[in-house]
Amino acid sequence: MSDISTRTRLPTELLRIIILDYLTAIREEHGSKDVSRTSYKAPWYMVEPLILTSRICRRLALEGWFEVYFAHSPNDLLEVWPEFSIWAKELHCVELGKDSHILPVMQWNLMSFHRLHKLRVDFEPANPNAMLLLRFDYPRNIASQLQELELHDISWPSPMPLTVVANAFHGLRVLKMSQDLIWCDLCNICSFATFRDHPPEEIVYEKIVGLPTHYTTILKRLTRLQTVILTVGYGLGGSVSLADNNNMMWSGECDACMDVMYSSMEYCEERIARKAMDRPPSLQSVIWRFRQKDPADVVMDFEDEPELYAQPEGAAGEEADTGGMTFPSSDD
Ligand SMILES: [Zn+2]
Repeated sequence: MSDISTRTRLPTELLRIIILDYLTAIREEHGSKDVSRTSYKAPWYMVEPLILTSRICRRLALEGWFEVYFAHSPNDLLEVWPEFSIWAKELHCVELGKDSHILPVMQWNLMSFHRLHKLRVDFEPANPNAMLLLRFDYPRNIASQLQELELHDISWPSPMPLTVVANAFHGLRVLKMSQDLIWCDLCNICSFATFRDHPPEEIVYEKIVGLPTHYTTILKRLTRLQTVILTVGYGLGGSVSLADNNNMMWSGECDACMDVMYSSMEYCEERIARKAMDRPPSLQSVIWRFRQKDPADVVMDFEDEPELYAQPEGAAGEEADTGGMTFPSSDD
């Protein structure tokens, strides 16, 4: 007759499901998903009691806690536990550098993260940083397997960083970008969005593109891309309202261009028809979200290293990668 304690012990497989579900739930509830440069892992004080109960619970709790790996510098990725290659599914990196740091500083080496499906990178909004994405494209075989990419506070959301994304992360299904500025495809300038009144919490485009034109051109090569979510800052004082209806299908145009060019109904209809024609092949939805900001808190001018904005690294001689466009200078 077997011992009672043996008979009542939960199978490890079931214990794993329970603990991983618990950790996912507390991460959803207590993690700081929308706080830039702060880890969204489950708080350690909610994991620690599990560690102390038994050897198997300790291992399973650590496994669940390290499904998300939070890193402050490339060095944090170099000496990780061997188990991380199978535990870590999401990598959350804080990159505080400037574009002038691309070389000779080391890459973020993803070598130890074979099961990675999501990468989140939080930049420092006060620094010119759009080209620092190049530091995450290593090794290429792991970067290209990523299914979800989330970028916070890219300083200059022109098509330039989208070109880096499309070249490095071939397997993307979800792309999220969250930053203060919009990029207007009518004047090719990054600016702070202003509206006449508060926009809705989100605008959802399904079956139509809803992206700035050159974003569409560049992202078409991501054949599995299904969802794009763009969160942008905004202020009041503009002339256009998105609150009542969105019949002009706003997709990042600045207030000045909307005011001048959309005053012609003929032009407006032609442009909307053009927007609806072209799309990345698997794209199902484009979602715009809005967060109100004080313009005084938004960095719009980056004085140093302006040449990096005029000609992105690796784009020389690759006009097709940019949709034939030229990149705006920081003086724009
Ligand atoms: Zn514009």
